[in-house]
Amino acid sequence: MAPRLKAEAYIEGIRQGDRVMLARAITLVESIRPDDQKLAQSVLNALLSQTGQSLRIGLSGPPGVGKSTTMDALGMQLITAGHQVAVLAIDPSSQVGGGSILGDKTRMPRLGASEHAFIRPSPAGKSLGGVAEKTREALLLCEAAGYDVVIVETVGVGQSEIMVSQLVDTFVALMLPNAGDELQGIKKGIIEVADIIAINKADGPMAAIASRAKREHENALHYSRQRLEGWSVPVVLMSALEQVGLQDLWATVQRHHQFMRDNGHFHRRRSEQRTQWMWNHIQNQLLVHFHQHPQVQDQLEAVELLVRDGALSPVTAAKRLLKLQSIQD
Ligand code: GDP
Repeated sequence: MAPRLKAEAYIEGIRQGDRVMLARAITLVESIRPDDQKLAQSVLNALLSQTGQSLRIGLSGPPGVGKSTTMDALGMQLITAGHQVAVLAIDPSSQVGGGSILGDKTRMPRLGASEHAFIRPSPAGKSLGGVAEKTREALLLCEAAGYDVVIVETVGVGQSEIMVSQLVDTFVALMLPNAGDELQGIKKGIIEVADIIAINKADGPMAAIASRAKREHENALHYSRQRLEGWSVPVVLMSALEQVGLQDLWATVQRHHQFMRDNGHFHRRRSEQRTQWMWNHIQNQLLVHFHQHPQVQDQLEAVELLVRDGALSPVTAAKRLLKLQSIQD
């Protein structure tokens, strides 16, 4: 890690849209060192008034669905239209191995080379909650650096989607034109978080299948609970490869945004997200303190073993451990 600078250097750099400073500040945010955390918080606090202005978009989908192709093509269209685009990628599978392929710039060659884009993989973290918190802080720093479109990307595996939906204004679920599987996706609860469904690869021999999938989705959505009152989730057909339907997708994102603003959902969603963030932080901190407590560290393994063997009830075990650092229910 590059040597730490004074808070002012990060703050000034970010205000001027310096991507190196932005990247270094995000590294600070991701650091677990207490002094880095303190520095990161002063940088964030100083910049908070310059945040909140971007369009925050979540994009999720299974590997191979075309997320990077979409972001490369859509991102370049947005840049041509005068936007500054940041991509933050969350790859839950990287949490074990460390490092992420999602945020790899080579996946988005044109966007990666553009001076109007900023691409960053998620930190490898132990808990999804921790990753969410750091991604949110990275998002705020991107906004302060002048990025007016921030895309948070994730591989669709359920939990991470819910987490991303708590960070963004508009959540786009990217799907393959395979109706059977996609309806499975709906059952899995993607519908709970999606504001827009986009069926990619609607080209060549898949075009007809994609149209059928669109109809099946629309039918299924018709009978699902609306996530946002008054908003029926649109299904967009597109081909990222042939760059067809991207404008339609973008127009739909904007329509959703406008709908949210017109109906008070926008401020409600953002304030709920801020509250959620506070609680996430409290939960994370409580867990960190719990794990750091020396007596807990001493006894955790043995108690866990007893629970695993059925020799101690989980509740009694939890109470015993919590008592050690006097957090009781
Ligand atoms: P990701 O894993 O979701 O990021 O998917 P990629 O963007 O890397 O795409 C996976 C593969 O699908 C690549 O070989 C792409 O060229 C291809 N692909 C992406 N979008 C389309 C599309 O719209 N149509 C077709 N036919 N192929 C696509």
